Amino acid sequence: MGFVIRRAARYGFCSGVRVADIRVRRFAASGRRGAILGQVVHNERVVEDLARLGVRTVESLDEVVEPVVVFSAHGVPPSLHRLALERGLEVLDTTCRFVYDIHHASQRALAAGAHLVFVGNPGHREVIGYTHDLDPDAYHVVHTLADVEAVDWSRYESITVFYQTTLNAEEYEEVVQAIERANPATRRADTICYATKENQAAARELAEGADIDLVLVVGGRHSANTRHLFDICARLKPSHLIQGAADIDPAWLSGANGVGLTAGASTPDYVMDEVEARLIELGGHPPQR
Ligand code: SF4
Repeated sequence: MGFVIRRAARYGFCSGVRVADIRVRRFAASGRRGAILGQVVHNERVVEDLARLGVRTVESLDEVVEPVVVFSAHGVPPSLHRLALERGLEVLDTTCRFVYDIHHASQRALAAGAHLVFVGNPGHREVIGYTHDLDPDAYHVVHTLADVEAVDWSRYESITVFYQTTLNAEEYEEVVQAIERANPATRRADTICYATKENQAAARELAEGADIDLVLVVGGRHSANTRHLFDICARLKPSHLIQGAADIDPAWLSGANGVGLTAGASTPDYVMDEVEARLIELGGHPPQR
């Protein structure tokens, strides 16, 4: 009998990460030396693969001794582009175009006199990219209701709210509404990425399935969007966040009739295939078509 393995209708690499991954692999194949600032995507397997191909990951520009620095899909503060050029580094910029859209839209809102609010994790590279070069009085980063309650929003003439691209918007509705209540001249920019929304909707649909008893969410330890997928699934069914096939504990599968699979935007397809192959070894089979 065994159990059925069903993948979410959408999962895994988004267009931004797919393009970044291809560009860095193409660069590595050319034999040139470079270093990636921060993980090119938040997935340890991809980072290890690229290191094997000769493109190592570093945490700061000071560590770059190669002639080329790669900026990841999450983007960097504009000042880092200038600093890299001053240091004589060539830049391979794989910043996602949707991240650039937020850089540009937030600059336009600022020029129009708005106070900027970024909903997200202040320590995330994408958010640092938006905020690092700004006057600290020009913006806030908020993550919790307590963050919102600590600010007197009425002192701003107008406010524009931007979301970190990979958030689950529903989780922050209360946070944004609290700002809107405190200052009616608040506008939201719709900046949650299409890929994030699609992966989240498909994960929810998967976990809601009557045929699914357990969900495995595949992704990197530092991937915010993988964590959000896990949160969505865990509210509906027993779920586990795994980095790859080796993390599967066979005991989880005991008594399961259906196992759902989804993956964060930084999970390569081959990792998903390895997870499915391991589940098949453990008695699973894909749904009959
Ligand atoms: S999740 Fe969206 S914004 Fe982030 S890299 Fe992928 S396509 Fe770009």
